[in-house]
Amino acid sequence: METVAFIGLGNMGGPMATNLVRAGHSVTVYDRVEATMDTLAAAGARKAASAAEAIKGADCVISMLPASQHVKGLYCDPDGLFSTLPAGTLVVDCSTIDSAVAKEVAAAASENGILFMDAPVSGGTAGAAAGTLTFICGGTDAVFAQAKPILAHMGKNIFHAGDVGAGQMAKACNNMMLAIQMAGVSEALSLGIKNGLDPKVLSEIMKNSSGNNWALQVYNPVPGVMENAPASRNYEGGFMVDLMVKDLGLALQAAKHCHAETPMGQQANTLFSQHASKGNGQRDFSSIFLRYQQ
Ligand code: NAD
Repeated sequence: METVAFIGLGNMGGPMATNLVRAGHSVTVYDRVEATMDTLAAAGARKAASAAEAIKGADCVISMLPASQHVKGLYCDPDGLFSTLPAGTLVVDCSTIDSAVAKEVAAAASENGILFMDAPVSGGTAGAAAGTLTFICGGTDAVFAQAKPILAHMGKNIFHAGDVGAGQMAKACNNMMLAIQMAGVSEALSLGIKNGLDPKVLSEIMKNSSGNNWALQVYNPVPGVMENAPASRNYEGGFMVDLMVKDLGLALQAAKHCHAETPMGQQANTLFSQHASKGNGQRDFSSIFLRYQQ
């Protein structure tokens, strides 16, 4: 079993690190928010006072941070982790960030003999807790082969999308589609509700018809339709609107660079950005449903 340093214990990182502890790895954790580390310590992880302390003696470093600037800062700042990590250490960043930044971080890692892979995830907080995440990896064959057994303790589908940055690119495509899908599901359910349909019945009909999709299957946006979905706990936890707006920004930026047409992605970006600006940034992204209730 590996000695793992896990940095970033939020909605996703917390349950992911817990699964590594349960699998028997020796895990040291660090997060800026002390309370998140207490939960992990109770599960059997060691708490560190800083990221630099957490990586001491680690074979593998895993990070799960909000955005590009956090990842770049953690590894590449003058006093960042790449200044002290021994050559040969495996670094897997699971955050969703700009593909170009992942390539920059990988280049800095390579200058120090460190093995870097981007491995953003899909599957939400429920997938993180159940250890059934999908990992979408970018890196060399050798680094992918080395990381795969560790990732297998946190996920069930582990894809090698291509070289460094490819994991982030595939993730940006996926999340642009997810945003479009969640807005579409909310729109259709609202239309049904306003015409007297029961959202539970309508959801079942669409799940068994050509409108079936992931949001309907596991993440219904209408409160009370699905017991374990964020909608049924006042849209708390889950995947924040602010993070979805970040991901749509990444997808649209990539589209601009290669002149790809993304009218649906742009519309989703407008909807989620407006929703965030009305004080909903910290709520789960399925709260976009509330926009249609106004
Ligand atoms: P979160 O905000 O709940 O957690 C991020 C954690 O990182 C926080 O606890 C924060 O304190 C910590 N942090 C930030 N900077 C740090 C630093 N320099 N050192 C140590 N800790 C630091 O976010 P999340 O929902 O867990 O998402 C994390 C990443 O995973 C994001 O990139 C997000 O886009 C992606 N993602 C989230 C979901 C989801 O359903 N929540 C699903 C797939 C992917």
